[in-house]
Amino acid sequence: MKDRYEFETLAVHQEPDPSTGALVPPIHPSTTFAQEEPGVHRGFEYSRTDNPTRRELEEKLALLEGGRFGLCFASGMAAISAVLGLLGPGDHVLACDDLYGGTYRLFRALERYGLEFTYLDMSDPGTIVVKKNTKLVWLESPTNPLLKVIDIAQVAAQVRRMKGDVLLAVDNTFATPYLQRPLELGADIVVHSTTKYLSGHCDVVGGAVVTSDEGVYRRLKFIQNAVGAVPSPFDCFLVLRGLRTLPLRMERHCANAQRVAEFLEEHPKVARVYYPGLGGHPGHELAARQMRSFGGMMSFELRGDVRAFLRGLKLITLAESLGGVESLICHPASMTHGAIPEEERRRRGIGRNLLRISVGIESYVDLERDLERALAEA
Ligand code: PLP
Repeated sequence: MKDRYEFETLAVHQEPDPSTGALVPPIHPSTTFAQEEPGVHRGFEYSRTDNPTRRELEEKLALLEGGRFGLCFASGMAAISAVLGLLGPGDHVLACDDLYGGTYRLFRALERYGLEFTYLDMSDPGTIVVKKNTKLVWLESPTNPLLKVIDIAQVAAQVRRMKGDVLLAVDNTFATPYLQRPLELGADIVVHSTTKYLSGHCDVVGGAVVTSDEGVYRRLKFIQNAVGAVPSPFDCFLVLRGLRTLPLRMERHCANAQRVAEFLEEHPKVARVYYPGLGGHPGHELAARQMRSFGGMMSFELRGDVRAFLRGLKLITLAESLGGVESLICHPASMTHGAIPEEERRRRGIGRNLLRISVGIESYVDLERDLERALAEA
């Protein structure tokens, strides 16, 4: 029944609470739940294992991603770490070469437990080769921070042709399920930092995994409970609240980002803009097919003094993170991707003049004015 509604309707509608009829899901702070006899209860025992508010969010995220099972975590990194927990010593991971610096840092740290990693530019799927011990293919699309677009369906088909038991995981944080649904494109696992667009207001740190594979779900559920990196019921409530306006916010993020990208592309102080909505972006046509719209994230290379430019901004705030209603700018080389060694960073194209903008939902006029003034000072 629910499957027949459009995404916007699914995002807004919440089944009324069966015990009270409340339209807004109650926040259940209880850590523990009464049992009639040992092991006989109403579905909940202890909140690390399962909690009604968290379950509500897990079911909602599964619904929005078109998956069967959702699992929530205390952060995006906790979600990513849980997925890597599916692997063991000697297993190989093939990852895209442009990805969030914290993910790269975690992958590097896992090498000491016997996991092997190879990084590859997956925007050219022809280069993908799996090894005998490859168990996981990991990608972001669009990637962070260079906004490369990867053909998820093609990677899924190619990997499956080469090796049947490889899992394909997609970090869908930049796109959100409103713009892109990786499970429908052949991915096995979708990961989110719910800290970003899904909550949307820079007031909660959280993560999630969605899958339709029951075996994977059971193993992840074990890790979620055994490790215990779970979000609080209040944080789950905040994400549930944010999700109700996700489609509206994304529409505005995308519209503003398109205009900001076009403005920057024409500006003499800007050497290059990375935004899939621009006709000249190498992934433009693929993004137009794979995504509903091009997203709110972009990067650009400044032709000028980065510090002077950043000082000149009065509205767009210099800060880590992304996906909130207000526009944020960051300097990947020293902030989000500072964990990547300099040489490696340069090799990947993350230079000292690269800036990343998370375009918010403010008036475009004010954003352009702010950028214009700061560029004049750069
Ligand atoms: N994935 C992507 C694409 C991100 O940008 C981030 C954080 O910036 C993460 C994962 C990690 O999420 P969190 O900060 O919620 O742990």
